[in-house]
Amino acid sequence: MSSGQDVSLAERLETVRAGISDAAKDAGRSAADITTIVVTKFHPASIVRELAALGVRDFGESRHQEARSKVAEVADPELVWHFVGQVQGKKARQIAEYARVIHSLDRESLVQALSDSVPPVECFIQVNLTEDPTRGGIEPSLVLPLAERVLESTGLRLLGVMAVAPLGSEPRHAFARVRGASELLRTVAPEAVAISAGMSGDYREAVLEGATHLRIGTAITGNRPIAG
Ligand SMILES: *Cc1c(COP(=O)(O)O)cnc(C)c1O
Repeated sequence: MSSGQDVSLAERLETVRAGISDAAKDAGRSAADITTIVVTKFHPASIVRELAALGVRDFGESRHQEARSKVAEVADPELVWHFVGQVQGKKARQIAEYARVIHSLDRESLVQALSDSVPPVECFIQVNLTEDPTRGGIEPSLVLPLAERVLESTGLRLLGVMAVAPLGSEPRHAFARVRGASELLRTVAPEAVAISAGMSGDYREAVLEGATHLRIGTAITGNRPIAG
């Protein structure tokens, strides 16, 4: 790890933290109510250690094999791992072994698969804001029935809703829809107040629409290395 690289990682982290506090101020919110998850997919364990040394505690991954080995390699019990990618049914239980939070719960079979997790897995119901069912997430009208299943399960603790803003659309508009889904969810789950929304390019708009959890990759880590 060269010191030049350390400086730029620290600088990018600082820039994003400042951007989040500006957005929070403009929204009349406290930055302390916003959790920043640094998404380290495709990056080696070493970047996680460098970020941990800079005070980052929450990390996100989207591919199970990679995540599992990275978590084991970093082996830092202070860190909280968030799984943000699509969950394959047969991997759900394995993911719950290292991820405290799963952001991408989007079907009843996953509730089943995770129903006896101890301690309960914290989860977000992912809402799909596109017309494309392969993008992950459930259509907004199906959030309530799925939430009811989650609330019945002792293996899951529902935190709120999660979404990715569709490419090519105005992010503020997309995040306003997520806020609507959150309000609807709270009619059946008053404690599920969290909103996981906002990435490198649109976290400001997400904060303005009430996001409590930001999932930020490249703006902090720099470009992802080519997969391989
Ligand atoms: C990769 C990823 C992110 C982070 O994306 P950036 O644009 O690099 O900030 C956030 N959420 C999910 C679901 C992702 O897969």
